[in-house]
Amino acid sequence: MNQLKKEDIKTLLKQREANSSKKDYGHALIVAGKKCSMGAAVIAARGAIRTGVGLLTVCVPEEEREILQISVPEAMLLLREDQQYDFDHFSAIGAGSGMGINKTTEELLINLLAQFKKPIVLDADALTLVSNRKLHAYIPQETIITPHILEFDRLFGAHQNNDDRMNTAITKAREYQIIIVLKSHQTAIITPDEVFQNSTGNAGLAKGGSGDALTGVITSFLAQGYTPLNAAKLAVYLHGLAADITLNEQCMESMVITDVIENFGKAFE
Ligand code: AMP
Ligand code: MG
Repeated sequence: MNQLKKEDIKTLLKQREANSSKKDYGHALIVAGKKCSMGAAVIAARGAIRTGVGLLTVCVPEEEREILQISVPEAMLLLREDQQYDFDHFSAIGAGSGMGINKTTEELLINLLAQFKKPIVLDADALTLVSNRKLHAYIPQETIITPHILEFDRLFGAHQNNDDRMNTAITKAREYQIIIVLKSHQTAIITPDEVFQNSTGNAGLAKGGSGDALTGVITSFLAQGYTPLNAAKLAVYLHGLAADITLNEQCMESMVITDVIENFGKAFE
């Protein structure tokens, strides 16, 4: 298993050109949030806007739109109820954070998986929909899925230990030609050919919202044109590193994911 190392991660980061504009950094779409889970949408959106994306649109239920507009004024909105989505002008899509599990979100997910020909990240409720409705075969190649252990076992069956789980992850990454970010205290990135283990992060991340931020970050890097593997590597490493930097100001008990997102700048440095 390869370790993600600082020297390697540094070489992956693209320079931001002085004469560039927002058009050079992609347009990400995040499909997230529902009544009583709008925090997940806000956190995913903040994860994206703090990691370089040119434009961000968030797809939320109309009733909840003000929460997003006030919390993340940099983002534009698509309303979940508008069925006429044109996904084509987005550069990458991240779906799942608190988006809810119902007929509407199931249809939205199926449409998205069928129509969108650019990189996709699936997390949280999107993964539960895939598990519940057996949508595995709809997942396009090169999609990044970001299950924690319970979500992974729901997708691919129960495992007794992590070695078995890793073997299944390698088999499934090959079968579907996808990248699996298997989240834990030692997150692994499993591709059809290789496995990478992360070295950053701490138990201060063992709280609600941490995974939603990661989804936003991966989507942002994908929208900026990083390959799916490099987007996953950069996002996982940076997310953990920012949590480690947050230990200078907070302890593991007191840190919240918003603190971590605010330290993305120091993590980039
Ligand atoms: P989720 O369970 O979807 O909220 O995702 C949790 C995020 O926090 C993942 O990125 C995990 O890798 C990270 N995380 C959770 N617990 C720990 C831990 N004990 N040490 C390091 N990272 C963690
Ligand atoms: Mg999660």
